[in-house]
Amino acid sequence: MNDQLLLVLDAGTTSTRAIAFTLAGDIAASAARPITQYYPASGWVEHDASEILAQSRACLEEVANEVGAARIAAIGITNQRETVVFWDRASGEPLARAIVWQDRRTAAMCAELKSHEAMVQARTGLLLDPYFSGTKIRWAIDNWPMVGDAARDGRLAVGTVESWLIWHLSGGAAHVTDATNASRTLLMNLTTSAWDAELLDLFGVPAAALPAIVDCAGALATTVIAGRTIPITGAAGDQQAAAIGQGCLSPGMLKATYGTGCFLLAHAGDTPPVSHNRLLSTVAWRLDGRCAYALEGAIFVAGSAIQWLRDGLGIIASSAESETLAQSVPDSGGVSFVPALAGLGAPHWAPDARGLICGLSGGTTRAHIVRAALEAQGQQTADLVDALAADGVAAAVLRVDGGMVANDWLCQDLADTLGVVVERPRVIETTAMGAAMLAGVGAGLFADLPAAAAAMAAAGRQFHPATDAATRQERRSAWQAAIARVIG
Ligand code: ADP
Repeated sequence: MNDQLLLVLDAGTTSTRAIAFTLAGDIAASAARPITQYYPASGWVEHDASEILAQSRACLEEVANEVGAARIAAIGITNQRETVVFWDRASGEPLARAIVWQDRRTAAMCAELKSHEAMVQARTGLLLDPYFSGTKIRWAIDNWPMVGDAARDGRLAVGTVESWLIWHLSGGAAHVTDATNASRTLLMNLTTSAWDAELLDLFGVPAAALPAIVDCAGALATTVIAGRTIPITGAAGDQQAAAIGQGCLSPGMLKATYGTGCFLLAHAGDTPPVSHNRLLSTVAWRLDGRCAYALEGAIFVAGSAIQWLRDGLGIIASSAESETLAQSVPDSGGVSFVPALAGLGAPHWAPDARGLICGLSGGTTRAHIVRAALEAQGQQTADLVDALAADGVAAAVLRVDGGMVANDWLCQDLADTLGVVVERPRVIETTAMGAAMLAGVGAGLFADLPAAAAAMAAAGRQFHPATDAATRQERRSAWQAAIARVIG
């Protein structure tokens, strides 16, 4: 029996984790450490890159020592996307704090550049929003003298979190970024998956500071963990890794992660899709120099609506109680709940919108409101799926993960609302699983991603649509009327 393991580093926003997978997709060991969040001003979010590195190394060492480093065939890395790190090529030391994806400090810069948005979208698949890395890099060069000076002296190295980690894990030998992470910077041309000179010019980013864009699998670097030299053979941003871990490997396959918010990624084939519905077009993975593409949309408020019912309204004692309450009534009793508690994400893009509960009557109980809050997840997903369809990607199957999908009722309602089969995987750690699959392919343990998925990503439970089209349409119409009131 092959007892080799694939070790994944999942460098997330609030914690960093290492997980060792068997080649059959089982978790052999894991470790996690927290990451400090810094909020130096309103809308600003920063990380200490040295802490990310130290905590990541500690997790890798801990797991390697637990399972025996000799069993580890390869390492895969996945990470919070868009966060940028600035460091000195000579010393390897960070020159400033990392600017985190959530950071809004470049909102004014994005507004100033708005006239370039059509060109930027055509080349990168992205919109001009502070979320992406490009304006963050410009801001640091302009406002942090340590970064600006290093840029002028040619000492500046810039990269997203996986790039920073690979640089240090390889002892400074590799300054690389995988194409999925590069596709979130506003600096990469989606068609060529190379840095785009005109975009570098527009955002004022020196090419010399940037990493080389590489495949998501292959001999990316080598590192020493627990005294052994181990190759790093896989890398991808977290949402792309989750889609891979969910086995979304062909057009029309979708994955949605229902946590605090919800991220949906749809495989869109091997040419860059163009969204006319304000979805993001992005790299799903790059292997052997060739990209697969995805359309992506984010829902800002998913699980946090349930948290609000618990902590804000106090009408449920636990998130799990939402399931029993939703089941206790035959329908929402005419109640619609648009959970725009933090604005509306794709495809509406209404950051200033606020929530609405409507259709109340004397007969409304907390069960109806809770049910409407869960139904809103299906409706928000349906809004994205409709936008995808309008952009030419017809949903075949929806694979789900994240904390909310422990709720069986929710999974069934998603199937009913969307009219597609919803699948929940056996191992819920899909992000780490995707990085493990890439590492396995990169190390030559699997011929390709389908082979890796067949070996590692076992199916869990399926939920089949059980409502008729008329009921589905009636509920869609009620939701669309409520959305119109929120946006109107
Ligand atoms: P994140 O990774 O964004 O922190 P998680 O994936 O851990 O989030 O999911 C946590 C969210 O899922 C919380 O907002 C919580 O309210 C919600 N949640 C957890 N269990 C359930 C459940 N059984 N039904 C509905 N929502 C749930």
